[in-house]
Amino acid sequence: MDGCLFCRILAGEIPAKEVASSERTFAFRDINPGAPTHVLVIPREHIENAGTVEASHGDVLAEMITTAQQVAQLEGLADRGYRLVFNVGEDSGNTVPHLHLHVIGGRIMGWPPG
Ligand code: 5GP
Ligand code: ZN
Repeated sequence: MDGCLFCRILAGEIPAKEVASSERTFAFRDINPGAPTHVLVIPREHIENAGTVEASHGDVLAEMITTAQQVAQLEGLADRGYRLVFNVGEDSGNTVPHLHLHVIGGRIMGWPPG
């Protein structure tokens, strides 16, 4: 989608630190990490957010989760655990309107989140 920040990262127009990649997904480091590991997994197709996901997105969503599992393995998080987050809308702090799964780990995290 024209002008979308994460579509521009996918197009190579804006640099990003790649962590993993698959046919339908791409994973890269968050520019403002909230934990020792903070990686964003995105679909290569433009989907606005989890609030607009439909049943037809099932395959790409599953692939986002398997890419997140791969990130957890690569970052050494799989044993101790990690958090997967989709922010949706203003109250959540969602800022980029291209679906992204936050993979956060490497420290103990409180619950519920602040
Ligand atoms: P949201 O709050 O929308 O769920 O998360 C968007 C995330 O994208 C934020 O954690 C923010 O730090 C990250 N971000 C924003 N702009 C960029 C960028 O240009 N490059 C990278 N790697 N991350 C970004
Ligand atoms: Zn996009």
